[in-house]
Amino acid sequence: MSLEIVFVMVGTTHTGNLGAAARAMKTMGFTNLRLVDTCPHLSAEALARSSGANDVLKDAQTYETLSDAIADCRMVVGTSARARQLAVPLLACREIADEIGALSKTLPAGEKVAMVFGQERSGLSNESLDLCTRLLRIPCNPDFSSLNLGSAVQVVSYELSQALVSVPLGAPQPMPGKWKSSADGTAQEPEVATDPDELPATSEVMGHFFDHLDRVMINTGFMNPDNPRLLRRRVRRYFETNRPSGNEVAIFRGILAATEKPKNR
Ligand code: SAH
Repeated sequence: MSLEIVFVMVGTTHTGNLGAAARAMKTMGFTNLRLVDTCPHLSAEALARSSGANDVLKDAQTYETLSDAIADCRMVVGTSARARQLAVPLLACREIADEIGALSKTLPAGEKVAMVFGQERSGLSNESLDLCTRLLRIPCNPDFSSLNLGSAVQVVSYELSQALVSVPLGAPQPMPGKWKSSADGTAQEPEVATDPDELPATSEVMGHFFDHLDRVMINTGFMNPDNPRLLRRRVRRYFETNRPSGNEVAIFRGILAATEKPKNR
């Protein structure tokens, strides 16, 4: 499996759940765990609940913010038991797993995709969801839809493991033009992108782009800095849903820079 799946826990309050998450990940072959503002992950309870996935817990990296934790990721999937207003598209777990399976065929080895899990009681905040390119829901009883955190990690990691071992040809197309079709219309193996700037931009690059866009929207008077929330979220959602490549972001930033320093032509 060339793509690296990163599991990010945000604000976890029960240390046992971190152990359960590590166990769930390892049973499906995943080991990259990142923690943002969680309870201690090396407690006796966490280690006991990991049932031998101690290495996953011990190797876990901690971050101050979710932005830091996902800076190097090219796709960021938030998980939620319920639909959210003004969020990126909400898809069922299997659909997202298929999309990631297809993406894995076009990304060079080692490129990262993040799966982000929220706090036990409240889930992911709107600010966290703003950093996601997709929202994933595990389809379940609509009247009782909140899984235990460790169980949610188990279902997501199972679906991903299945999607990453066998990617059906003709699966959802993650990047336009990357699937070749033969003369008879049957899908063929996609090409792995070789130029990193042609891949979906990383979260770090997108963060700088959004900061720049914000500045221009405020300085041109287009956005009221005292009441920016919905506009900012809509703009973000648009670009995160169709995350541009690094080269495309550079063009947008060039346009923004030109509005800041127009040249007389
Ligand atoms: N009320 C919260 C539930 C939190 S459960 C909410 O609406 O999201 C803790 C975490 O487990 C969630 O943040 C999410 O990461 C995951 N989770 C629980 N149930 C889920 C489901 N049905 N689909 C996707 N993720 C789920």
